[in-house]
Amino acid sequence: MNNQERYETMYRRSIDDREAFWREQAELIHWHKPFDRVLDYDNPPFAQWFPGGLTNICYNAVDRHREERGDQTAIIWVSTEVEQRLEVSYRELYRQVNEMASLLLELGIVSGDRVLIYLPMIPEAIVAMLACVRIGAVHSVVFGGFAALALASRIDDASPKLIITADAGMRGGKVTPYKPLLVEGLAAIAVERPQVLVIDRGLATTPCPIAGEIDFASAIARHAGREVAPEWVESSHPSYILYTSGTTGRPKGAQRDTGGHMVAMRQSMQWIYGVQPGEVMFAGSDIGWVVGHSYIVYAPLLTGATTILYEGLPIRPDPGIWWSLVADYRVSCLFTSPTAIRLLKKTGADWIHAHDLSSLRTLFLAGEPLDKETHRWVTEALGIPVVDNYWQTETGWPILTNFAGLGLMELKFGSPTKPAFGYDMVLLDESGAELGPNTKGSLMIRPPLPPGCMSTIWGDDARFVQTYFSSARQMLYATFDYAIYDDDGYYFIMGRNDDVINVAGHRLGTREVEEALCTHPAVAEAAAVGIQDDLKGQEIEAFVVLMSHAAIPSEDELKAVVARQIGGIAKPKFLHVVPGLPKTRSGKVIRRAILAIAEGRDPGELPTIEDAKMLDVIRDAVQHR
Ligand code: AMP
Repeated sequence: MNNQERYETMYRRSIDDREAFWREQAELIHWHKPFDRVLDYDNPPFAQWFPGGLTNICYNAVDRHREERGDQTAIIWVSTEVEQRLEVSYRELYRQVNEMASLLLELGIVSGDRVLIYLPMIPEAIVAMLACVRIGAVHSVVFGGFAALALASRIDDASPKLIITADAGMRGGKVTPYKPLLVEGLAAIAVERPQVLVIDRGLATTPCPIAGEIDFASAIARHAGREVAPEWVESSHPSYILYTSGTTGRPKGAQRDTGGHMVAMRQSMQWIYGVQPGEVMFAGSDIGWVVGHSYIVYAPLLTGATTILYEGLPIRPDPGIWWSLVADYRVSCLFTSPTAIRLLKKTGADWIHAHDLSSLRTLFLAGEPLDKETHRWVTEALGIPVVDNYWQTETGWPILTNFAGLGLMELKFGSPTKPAFGYDMVLLDESGAELGPNTKGSLMIRPPLPPGCMSTIWGDDARFVQTYFSSARQMLYATFDYAIYDDDGYYFIMGRNDDVINVAGHRLGTREVEEALCTHPAVAEAAAVGIQDDLKGQEIEAFVVLMSHAAIPSEDELKAVVARQIGGIAKPKFLHVVPGLPKTRSGKVIRRAILAIAEGRDPGELPTIEDAKMLDVIRDAVQHR
């Protein structure tokens, strides 16, 4: 059988003989008590994988390896910001996780409680995540680049008992304090104020005390050498919540289970990433994103591999830094975003050729569309296969991909190849009819979603169904992406069909940006769109209408409001103060028309527009960028 046939056989089995397929994959992890059934799908679209099974993620990611590979490095921490490197063995990780778990128990955290982790890329962040799942607590990691408003909405939604944070992070050599943002966020919350545990890195230059804060160093010292038995939880027990953006301003908490999550992680390393125990994986992402959760933390550690946790920029101290890490640590699998590669592409292939990359077998790219040019350039520069993989926070692991562990199928530039195991794909036209090859449509997944995909939206089952399963005539999961597949069954992703903007692989909702702008007292209304950008894929362009009689704020001041409320990643590249916005007669802002004009396209026929002159207002604004 060639690779293509091997894939087809396994894929068909994962759909047609679903239970047998996933029963086999489930053997890759340890079950304290075996599951009764592979799948409970009695209440669609809610899928419960491996019901009746008892297990623990921390046991699988740490304890299990302590026996077999205690001296092996679990985490390599490299910070080019504070110029430090550290290797943590599985044995040492076990010690640290147990002490942290013991501290969590002392702070009154019990199974099911939420813990919000707002930390930079330091080993303690991974230790905190593992300590939570060890005791059955549910972590919610908030990306360190998020600011007050984003933090407050996540605290309100998850109502954590504890927040773990640090005095500061660093980015590009500049200290970025965390505590002032947290103070501001806490001032805006509606729920009971959580306890705050602070890891003091000695970086913050201005003290920022938080009432009742607990100092990590002195607290953890009391737990030296303590061991905490892993809490055996039901397979469906929530392991974490990760917030992501959608059409509304309110972020959605994607809830992941325990058993299905582990099985998904472990089999994806086996078949997709092709990483074996003992090998080194480097995911150049952030633990605040789903790629970080899955491929910096859980998948490598569940596999008994070594993971690299990198604090810093890919071009600092020079654009060869990542390739030097590949050489230094004999990395076999590298995973990052197309934007990072486009950034490195600008500096030339010499930085790549200067290093011994003989250990590197495959580069994986995900998070945003990978343009053909970049795909071709990096493939030639590295001389190894470069795999585009398409997935979402919601799924936690690839939906469309090639399979390094199974044997790669032919790679086509611009295509994330074919469906991963368990994903039954459907392409629909506007009327909800199924499409064949070579026609663009909305990409859907026929449920049940495979193991590892979100079980629900935290605290809101109805919103889960309504958001993802109500846009088609039949019950199908909507990815909110357009796609097409060719005669060979290769998929091509054609962008989002909702109001989500993807800046450098970071997903933001237009509503979030608009709501942040509207917190400025002079702003009456705002519209944000994602315009095409050669480096970051998309950039944000915003249009703001001011209150009459308001003092006119500068464009920079308005941009700064967004950075302050959501974070620097959401700061618009262009912002214009305009007298009005194009709207329908029922008062809805026509973002599609704004986007078309901003990208220099014709907005087309707009029969429902209230005042066509507003299109000229937008044309005029974008001419003055
Ligand atoms: P996130 O949940 O932040 O990972 O964002 C998921 C979205 O990013 C998807 O719905 C796509 O719009 C986009 N995306 C992720 N990976 C790819 C890819 N390989 N190609 C094209 N778009 C992608």
